[in-house]
Amino acid sequence: MKTIAAISTAPGTGGIGIVRISGEKTFEILEKIFIPKNKEKIENIKGYTIKYGNIIDEKNDIVDEVLVSYFKAPKSYTTENMCEINSHGGMVIMNKILELCLNNGAVLAEPGEFTKRAFLNGRIDLTQAEAVIDIINSKTDKEAKVSISQLEGSLSKNIGDIRKDILSIMADIEASIDYPEYDIEETTNGKILTFLDEVDKKLLSLEKSFYNGKILRDGISTVILGRPNAGKSSLLNLILNEERAIVTDIEGTTRDTIEEFIQIDGIPLKIIDTAGIRDARDEVEKIGVKKAIEIAEKSDVIIAIFDISRELNNEDLDILNIIKDKNSIIILNKIDLENKINYEKIKEINKPIIEMSAKTGEGKEKLFDEISKMFKLNEIATDGEIIVSNQRHKQLIKNARKNVELSRDAINNNMPIDIISTSIRQILEDLGEITGETVTEDIISEIFSKFCLGK
Ligand code: GDP
Repeated sequence: MKTIAAISTAPGTGGIGIVRISGEKTFEILEKIFIPKNKEKIENIKGYTIKYGNIIDEKNDIVDEVLVSYFKAPKSYTTENMCEINSHGGMVIMNKILELCLNNGAVLAEPGEFTKRAFLNGRIDLTQAEAVIDIINSKTDKEAKVSISQLEGSLSKNIGDIRKDILSIMADIEASIDYPEYDIEETTNGKILTFLDEVDKKLLSLEKSFYNGKILRDGISTVILGRPNAGKSSLLNLILNEERAIVTDIEGTTRDTIEEFIQIDGIPLKIIDTAGIRDARDEVEKIGVKKAIEIAEKSDVIIAIFDISRELNNEDLDILNIIKDKNSIIILNKIDLENKINYEKIKEINKPIIEMSAKTGEGKEKLFDEISKMFKLNEIATDGEIIVSNQRHKQLIKNARKNVELSRDAINNNMPIDIISTSIRQILEDLGEITGETVTEDIISEIFSKFCLGK
């Protein structure tokens, strides 16, 4: 494999910048561009050490004063010889150091290539590699915690244990194929069925965990509905704690949708602010209103906001109609003003009601508590719980369960044992695709292409 190099810190300026090199020629390249202050020969430097010195260019001019960390194969991120050059964090410097690496025999790393090598070289499996990108992209503490546990191998171990069990039952089956004269099929079939039930139970529990996994990863998608001037923008601002949306007295100014994330109990709440539900006056607003209804259809929870200082009108009734069969929370807004609303129609649809003032902030905590209660947020990602948060994993678990079903059918229909064996083997394949044992090159490429450069 070629020796690769890349800038691993985010583009832009920062206190320090890191250029990473991995591969056989790492130290050879370093020898040409780095002079340690104590002039120690690079071959004598041990792994897991950091040396202070200068990066120099072709003319022996100093490019930057740096710290270089050494990792000797196999004890490195990629299991290859590696080093990380910590330079000052300016783009000119980092680009220059990278260029020197490339001029001296390295090739530019592809996105995710360092982690891909860690996977291809067998240090981590595919779920662990995928956890790396999830950690980087985590929006909340809980999401990061679940990804860290996946990086530590919790999901791999779980899947690995199921695969091990399947392999041992496969051994029994093969024995009965090889020695049919012993007529052990009857007992074996019963045993396999019980075993498949067990496997299915474990897979089902993983599949179910995806509901929470998806909440952790994508957040709870929340849409705020309310007629013009009900206080949607004010509520959004209150929730976001900043002036993100335009708040105004002119009706219908929140024309398009705005999306923001906040955390409640460590779970991202994705809030989509939409145009007011109203008889659209112009094209832009029409799009907004139509979109509002569309988004409400797709959201996990609707926050419907009503202005208690005004009588309910037809738009309010439309909103009640939209939310009555959906997961929703009703906000009675402007409790700091005189109450002119008739609650009958609102109470009729039997949804949680929160009285609040988007202006003073009263009621905000109650709203968060209600959302937390609704999605049982404090029960998600408790210690030791294994959560599948990756769509690819979930699909493969589903496939595996389908093959469990096919295997059971094959047994119940008295199919020959080699047919049963084939479908059980398929379960192994599906699970192996999660951890990477049986995955295709295309899928590997696709997974790593989503990584950032230098990781
Ligand atoms: P939207 O059209 O639904 O987005 O409503 P806005 O958030 O723009 O609010 C419309 C008007 O109502 C603005 O003048 C807000 O300051 C005011 N408003 C919003 N919430 C409250 C509240 O709880 N109390 C009072 N007194 N005024 C509010």
